[in-house]
Amino acid sequence: MRITIVIPVYCEAKSLPFLYQRIEKVISGLPAIQWDYIFVNDGSPDDSLETLKQLAAKDPRVKVIDFSRNFGKEIALSAGVHAVRDADAVICMDADLQHPPELIPELVEAWRQGAEIVATIRVSVAKQPILRRLGSYFYYWLMSWMSGLDMLSQTTDYRLYDKKVVDVFRQVTERERLFRGVIDWMGFEKVYVSFRADCRQAGKTSFNYVQLVHLAISSLTSFSLFPLRMTGYLGAFITVASGLLLSRMLFARLISNPSLFTPLAIVVVINTLLIGIVLMAIGLVALYIGTIHTEVVNRPLYIVRERFNFKASDLDRRK
Ligand code: UDP
Ligand code: MG
Repeated sequence: MRITIVIPVYCEAKSLPFLYQRIEKVISGLPAIQWDYIFVNDGSPDDSLETLKQLAAKDPRVKVIDFSRNFGKEIALSAGVHAVRDADAVICMDADLQHPPELIPELVEAWRQGAEIVATIRVSVAKQPILRRLGSYFYYWLMSWMSGLDMLSQTTDYRLYDKKVVDVFRQVTERERLFRGVIDWMGFEKVYVSFRADCRQAGKTSFNYVQLVHLAISSLTSFSLFPLRMTGYLGAFITVASGLLLSRMLFARLISNPSLFTPLAIVVVINTLLIGIVLMAIGLVALYIGTIHTEVVNRPLYIVRERFNFKASDLDRRK
């Protein structure tokens, strides 16, 4: 049996040696499995690449993909998973040791029992700001509600995926992606394991609030046309409401009580009706844009500058 550990790396030079040591310690307790690593250096400006090259020079199981620039964690994870060859399962984890390697045996056990995805739930993040936690809850609630997919808040990217899941994942081509979201969308048998998150080992989180909001919006729009359709619904509502009101006004004006509504009031309502119609039209256009949006994905997801420790045969079959 083979398991590949995929780790996206951005400015983690300080934690990488610890991470490697801790994983090595854990996997030495599981000798029946052949292990290897794929680190994806996501354009780190620090010494991460140097550190990874040193690890790769010492240990041929350490494979490294070096991006030409920073493409973001979601893409880095995807690139790592794309590069996996002949593994029976893949484990994805962060490089900052917030995902304890000591959990690996538990993940593997759940997988052996038949789970196709073993997801982890972060029970409590030491020192996570309340705003971030609330934001995360709200985001998952909104996301589940809008996309109709089952997404639990506080699940993390620390997961084990069966080969089947990885093979399907290779077929996904969209650019704006939330890795976990794509996987959740795919379905499969899922089992949850919980853990207590530690603080970052070194450095600081590379996601600020603006980036998190951007990630949230882009994943919402790529998973659901709801925001687009909302415009149409709003338009329909305004059209119907102002249409009824206008009928009432015209009825008064022409038949029952001509002085009840001023001409200005009637003009205002006619205007509102028109706005409603325009919004409905936008909603309709949005449906077509939505379809195009889901179809048009062309540029490559990422650009690799160099690879280390990959065999020529691995690269031939590269997607
Ligand atoms: N990361 C990455 N590219 C980026 C930002 C982050 O590959 O542009 C990696 C980072 O090295 C780490 C993981 O993604 O392994 C999670 O990043 P971080 O700890 O900053 O995020 P958080 O834990 O705050 O969600
Ligand atoms: Mg982190």
